Amino acid sequence: MPLTFYNTLSRSLEEFRPVQEGRVGVYACGPTVYQLPHIGNYRTFLFNDLLHRYLEWKGYDVRFVMNLTDVDDKIIDRARAEGQGIHEYVAPYVDGFLGETATLGLRPADAYPRATGHIQEMTELVQRLLDRGHAYRTEDGSVFFDISSFDEYGKLSRIPLADVRSGERVAADEYEKDDARDFALWKSAKAADREVGAVWPAPWGEGRPGWHLECSAMSMAELGETFDIHAGGEDLIFPHHEDEIAQSEGATGKPFARYWLHAKHLMLETEKMSKSLGNVVRLEDVLDAGYSPAAVRYLLLSAHYRKELSFSYDGLADARAAVRRIVDFADRLDRAAAATNEAPTGATTTGATTDDAATDVGVPPSPLPALADQALAAFERGLDDDLNSPAALAALFTFIRQANAALDRADAVRAGDLERARDALQSMDKVFGILELARRDAGPDPELAAWAEDKLADRQQARADRDFARADAIRAELADAGIVVEDTPAGPRWKLAGQKAPR
Ligand code: AMP
Ligand code: ZN
Repeated sequence: MPLTFYNTLSRSLEEFRPVQEGRVGVYACGPTVYQLPHIGNYRTFLFNDLLHRYLEWKGYDVRFVMNLTDVDDKIIDRARAEGQGIHEYVAPYVDGFLGETATLGLRPADAYPRATGHIQEMTELVQRLLDRGHAYRTEDGSVFFDISSFDEYGKLSRIPLADVRSGERVAADEYEKDDARDFALWKSAKAADREVGAVWPAPWGEGRPGWHLECSAMSMAELGETFDIHAGGEDLIFPHHEDEIAQSEGATGKPFARYWLHAKHLMLETEKMSKSLGNVVRLEDVLDAGYSPAAVRYLLLSAHYRKELSFSYDGLADARAAVRRIVDFADRLDRAAAATNEAPTGATTTGATTDDAATDVGVPPSPLPALADQALAAFERGLDDDLNSPAALAALFTFIRQANAALDRADAVRAGDLERARDALQSMDKVFGILELARRDAGPDPELAAWAEDKLADRQQARADRDFARADAIRAELADAGIVVEDTPAGPRWKLAGQKAPR
């Protein structure tokens, strides 16, 4: 089955075909940096991360862009209340957001354009819309988009035409569907804007961009006038994304984003979690309650992005147990692989001890490679189907259950068979990012750590004996078990490949 996405534009599942073979441009609407995001926002950002990682897993060369909205109505109000300029006001929230995305293991974007860094492109876009008859100026020096000039207005959100009130205007950044009116592209400078430094020059008068204009200008600046995927939370369909389409296609006469993907909102019990309702849970609250970033990641990936998901601490406890099962399985495979290296001929018992290690000769082939292949195929089938993460996680857990049973039954497993199982797990985790995060935060398995310490001591002894061949062989043995040795001025240290050194 090919990779398919549910495209909000067509309200149907569509096979994904990028503009340019092998390459994908993704624009994800990022946070408005007037507060730290809540866990609901992170549902959407994790869905973006799943999309980013899976496109890479499929072999695409991905350019992933997430903007930071650093000027809008809310930021101006808050900055004023604090007596700060907008840049000063948003700085800690930008840092806080980027720090939290790292905590949750989100792949960094290739670019994080900020609205205030792209004012030039925004005024140029407004000019094009004026030139093409899609926009008009008002007496106070503002510019509005004329929705009656764009025949396809409403094609994304499918608002009934009866609700469209062209000629009437709405200046606020956020509004409801029954407020489908001409919207502000450029807002003439008010005293409040001047107070916080949110004023820029433009041919039609000083002012500031509207929120929707910001994303049209930044996405086209980063990805071109027509690009592949535009993503965000479901609340952005109207007016934000509808207005982005009108502005972008109105200005260029070309299709804007081809696939529109929207994540459903996270609920808190039966209500949507939102800053305006005040029922928000933040990442910090959850970590303070003793849950790990990996558990949060698991919980938010455990439901399909377009299906309902409610946040609860019970759900987090289940997520923690699921993460534990994945880590235990990975540790078991690592121990078995490490023990294989101990065995003279490359085979091992499946336990942690190596005394009764069998040799490859006479070791029957294990079902592990076949199970690994089946798991990877089911994982890919699931994610190809509109990023069905629960189906992909089910494939992982079936694999864990069956592989554990096979390990329980076997007296010994060939090194190559173990390797296939470890590779499959690593490959799936390139997308889930759960094991990666759990290990980063927990440090390595104690048994593996003890084994690595012993090996490092042996290597030191070999070096002291000037037996460099033996020292190199030990380093290679550690590498086979996924352990990297670093020689530092304070002496050699080891770490799991791709992880931070413990302590
Ligand atoms: P904001 O910072 O409010 O612009 O929101 C950032 C992103 O989070 C947007 O894509 C929103 O659609 C999304 N979002 C807001 N609330 C939720 C929620 N409860 N669940 C999932 N996504 C949300
Ligand atoms: Zn946006």
